Amino acid sequence: MISAVLFDLDDTLYPQQQWLDGAWHAVATRAAEEGVDPRRFEAVLREVAEEGSDRGGIIDRALARIDETRVSVPALVTVFRTHAPARLDPYPGVVDALDNLHRRVPLGLISDGDPGVQRAKLAALDLAPFFAGVVFSDEHGRGHRKPDPLPFCVALAQLEVEPHDAVYVGDRPAKDVAGALRAGLRAVRVRTGEWSAAPDDPQAWASVPTVVDAVELLGPPPDPVPPNRWRTRRRGQLTVQKKCTAGGIDGSLQSWARFAPTQWLPWARSSAAPAAWGVS
Ligand SMILES: [Mg+2]
Repeated sequence: MISAVLFDLDDTLYPQQQWLDGAWHAVATRAAEEGVDPRRFEAVLREVAEEGSDRGGIIDRALARIDETRVSVPALVTVFRTHAPARLDPYPGVVDALDNLHRRVPLGLISDGDPGVQRAKLAALDLAPFFAGVVFSDEHGRGHRKPDPLPFCVALAQLEVEPHDAVYVGDRPAKDVAGALRAGLRAVRVRTGEWSAAPDDPQAWASVPTVVDAVELLGPPPDPVPPNRWRTRRRGQLTVQKKCTAGGIDGSLQSWARFAPTQWLPWARSSAAPAAWGVS
């Protein structure tokens, strides 16, 4: 049965472009102090970023594109990394969907990226109270970004659920779906944000337009539990013994041993069609 639901953050719960727009504006404003035309620089930053957010070095490449050599790149990178907007808006319906769901089952969040940035986003979205467990994969090393299974294993340990009892909802097939499958969870892919047109590869348990559709797909679960029941655990002092899939996992999982012991079992990949809670 499904006893926990975990979520990705960027482009799953809110449009990441909203955060990027503010970050690029802050970077351009800082560069203006050193004589750079902020409007032109901001436009070029957006232009470079739209060529693909995975490529990195966006600030460097934008400065090169406008032949600007006077500016301190590290200072601008710091502005980017410390950008903390007072407010970000989740996708429509997300707050109600999470509010209802977290009263029924524990929810978790797994996000790649600079932990300081991701934490600021979560605060600006005001969604943190819904999550009983939060994992920023970079805190375990950048090598453990999704689709590495380690952050999924850590989240499962936080929620004290087995992988085959959990669903992961995310927007990127190559990261979110692939990572969830490697860790033995069911994956629901949402078609929002930068990767919305990417093919369903690997195949998810379900592919739906938005995260609200994903929650509706799961349907109303039985046996509501009191809210806050899942929030009493002190992170970092987990004693529960969790197991994780052995299939496809590399030696990196050894570093997970500080969170959980070491017996890995090959959880079966779920091929069940999405239907309702209670389906194994
Ligand atoms: Mg995402």
